[in-house]
Amino acid sequence: MAASEQPAEPSSSIPDYEFMNLCSTPFHIGSFRDEWLKRLKPENVSFQPGDQDSFEARFAAAMGVGEETMTELRSVCSVDSLLCHSGDQEPDPEVVPPNATLQTLTHREKQNNKPQKRTKNRHDLYVDELDRLTAGRLPETEANRLPEGELILTINIYFPSTVEKFNHLRAHTTMLMTGSHTLADLRDAVCCVSDLQVCGEFSSTPDMAPDFMSKDLFKSAYFFFEGVFYNDMRYPECQDISSTTIDWAKSHNYPQFSTAKMEDTRFLDLKVKVGYPYLYCHQGDCEHLVIITDVRLAHRSDCLDTDLYPLLTHKNRLVTQKCSVCHVFIGRWYTTRDQFAPSDPCLFCDKCFRMLHYDKEGNKLGDFLAYPYVDRGAFN
Ligand SMILES: [Zn+2]
Ligand SMILES: [Zn+2]
Repeated sequence: MAASEQPAEPSSSIPDYEFMNLCSTPFHIGSFRDEWLKRLKPENVSFQPGDQDSFEARFAAAMGVGEETMTELRSVCSVDSLLCHSGDQEPDPEVVPPNATLQTLTHREKQNNKPQKRTKNRHDLYVDELDRLTAGRLPETEANRLPEGELILTINIYFPSTVEKFNHLRAHTTMLMTGSHTLADLRDAVCCVSDLQVCGEFSSTPDMAPDFMSKDLFKSAYFFFEGVFYNDMRYPECQDISSTTIDWAKSHNYPQFSTAKMEDTRFLDLKVKVGYPYLYCHQGDCEHLVIITDVRLAHRSDCLDTDLYPLLTHKNRLVTQKCSVCHVFIGRWYTTRDQFAPSDPCLFCDKCFRMLHYDKEGNKLGDFLAYPYVDRGAFN
């Protein structure tokens, strides 16, 4: 919707392009929804399947055609009339008829003549599976039904990359969230391996390691949208980790930033630009780009079960580091100053690590330091 068509509207409720095909101007998500609901008729927003008869009646009225013409249109446009063989012939759907003029058929013929090359692995094959499985899904109980007129946002979360390669798409997850979700819900939906890191040396007590996850120790985090830091303040040990940046900005005469709580902020309350990179920061310095790529009203073909949101529709896949002994399992431990290891530091899977470094009773053998390792591909 171009802003020029609605000159009377406040610009902050209807987005326009700020940079063509790149990002929109900032707008208030809740007001944008209200603008849509004001303009649409209830049946446009309804999740009830449209009535074919009333559709045809409206179509006939809009086009100014009579019942006779409608009957003719119905038969001409019917699926049964789509034939590329004579009526008495039994079609073989596998065979492309000679001299086919349909683009789809010529394309298929080309594909058939090409030598088959399997380049897709199971990850690529199932990349859209989540999307397909949940389309039009109805809830088991009415209480979980997505309300009509609810907003759906498409959000990409990008992962920090150690390799600075920009010639390919960077690892990201895409999820669908509703307008009533809070930023804290988004935070909980982001699976980042730095939340799972375990700090400390555990060579004497390897079974203790899982109790020291960073996620449980360091709970502070923030999102940054349009000059506002949204801090996670849900737990008593949470700190306002944006204050350092705000103080720094103040002392350098930058425009003032403000703060809010992420658990109190719904997407409906946010003012954002669609397509613009924002920031999610947790575990001190683990920074992710957050890009809202779409804001729209829910449709009956969407997943209508609120229990399934935030709905993951794309997941990044990262290369995993394998154990340096068996080369089969993903590394779980790395050791240093290790007399049994071929390198320093050296990565082991849990099984090889314990077999090499402990006796049957679990007593430590020899001298080494052991640190838990969580692979970047832990969420593959
Ligand atoms: Zn992270
Ligand atoms: Zn191993």
